[in-house]
Amino acid sequence: MTVRVRFAPSPTGFVHIGSLRTALYNYLYAKKNNGKYIIRVEDTDRTRLVEDAIEGMIRSMEWAGVIHDEGPFLENDHIVQRGEYGSYIQSERLDTYKKYVDELIDSGHAYYCFCTKERLDDLRENQRADGKTSRYDGHCRSIDIEEAKKRVESGEEHVVRLKLPENRDIVFEDLVRGKVTFNTADLDDQVLIKTDGYPTYHFAVIVDDHLMEISHIIRGEEWLSSTPKHVYLYEAFGWEAPKYVHLPNILNSEKKKLSKRHGDVAVEDFNRKGYLPEALINYIALLGWSPDEEREIFSMEELIEHFSIERVSKSGGVFDVDKLNWMNNHYIKEADDDRLTELAMRYLLGSGIIDDEEITEKYEWIKSIVSLVKEKLDYMMQITPYVQEFLTEEVVVEEEEAKEIIKMDHVKDLLTEFKVRLNDLELFEAAEVKKVIKSLQKDLGIKGKDLFMPIRVGVTGTVHGSDLVRTIEILGKDKSVKRLNSIIDKL
Ligand code: GLU
Repeated sequence: MTVRVRFAPSPTGFVHIGSLRTALYNYLYAKKNNGKYIIRVEDTDRTRLVEDAIEGMIRSMEWAGVIHDEGPFLENDHIVQRGEYGSYIQSERLDTYKKYVDELIDSGHAYYCFCTKERLDDLRENQRADGKTSRYDGHCRSIDIEEAKKRVESGEEHVVRLKLPENRDIVFEDLVRGKVTFNTADLDDQVLIKTDGYPTYHFAVIVDDHLMEISHIIRGEEWLSSTPKHVYLYEAFGWEAPKYVHLPNILNSEKKKLSKRHGDVAVEDFNRKGYLPEALINYIALLGWSPDEEREIFSMEELIEHFSIERVSKSGGVFDVDKLNWMNNHYIKEADDDRLTELAMRYLLGSGIIDDEEITEKYEWIKSIVSLVKEKLDYMMQITPYVQEFLTEEVVVEEEEAKEIIKMDHVKDLLTEFKVRLNDLELFEAAEVKKVIKSLQKDLGIKGKDLFMPIRVGVTGTVHGSDLVRTIEILGKDKSVKRLNSIIDKL
């Protein structure tokens, strides 16, 4: 069987990381099986449309490196579609849905419903008052089809509903959950075409999955309870249903479904903060699937190699931002300094630390800071204060520990001598700075912490920090001397 899978987002303005994971698993499964991965935009809910959401979704997918074979793409900021099964945007396929719904009506699997909103509201209210689950009562099921057609032709407002058989088990196989059974007594006569003439998700999804020859549906578990309706629709059409895989939800630390209320959940948020796409991909791949090997770091190629539906779990993984940060930090440490510097520029520009003109001029200098501090970064946005620290000419000693160190008797002489020797350096680079510190050790007889800590506090104001001589080198002679002077003056 040719594997054809799809990610079918409704363009709501941002891509939830759960959606990225769905897209990723579809992608991995397609690549692993020499199949095709398709993006189809499900935009038939016209009340939820967000401008530029399709473009944003495509950009996020491109950023994440989850690239589809068919569907909408961006070319010079314009949406173009590639693939032989288009259109891949549902709002452009209305004629197709019309044709197929007519078929269902003619075969008696669907019917026109003229119930007004008021009637449906009353029905729902009454059912709720009686403690029943609200569902359509089949009021319009028995309207004679010829009469119904006349009413439709005369312009009466209507929807089309699925006519579910009564009290029948609908059984399907989920590749993760096994056999799943629903009884139609618990299901509604689903609206297939709405009053505005647009299909509902449930109808469009099965028509398109069939016409696009989708072999496997890999999607979130929130769709599990809709699947029996879909399976019945396939039966009504006499089509073969695809295979189903329902993925567990991604949970928050309280084991509830991860939502926007719990901080960052949009792919765009992580991009904006400077997470590396390969880290986000690696991390979310493991939220719902476990590899066949005891390790956690996987490149996209390795994910493709190892991915299997058999190892998708039934229960959801907890989204742990600390773990993601750890992983992102791992990838940052491995990443090329130029790539990180380019990324850093966007935060430095954004915070006004540098301006457009300085990008080229200060590039190497910023790159040296990035290289020095990258091991401390969870995400690239955190670079800003580090660069900021290198810009100030005066140091402020705030930490108690640092204050204690600077108070020690030998510190004033030590820093004064250090300053003089730094000032004398012709070649201001790490190796030379190191020699100066060694010479102080020899000449002043101070060593270890008593030597290094006052120097560190004298130059940076803090006891923490990156490699000391590299820090001094990046600061440069002028700033190092000015900083030492500012401290010495206060001693
Ligand atoms: N449009 C649906 C969504 O927004 C797709 C569900 C499915 O994959 O069938 O999640």
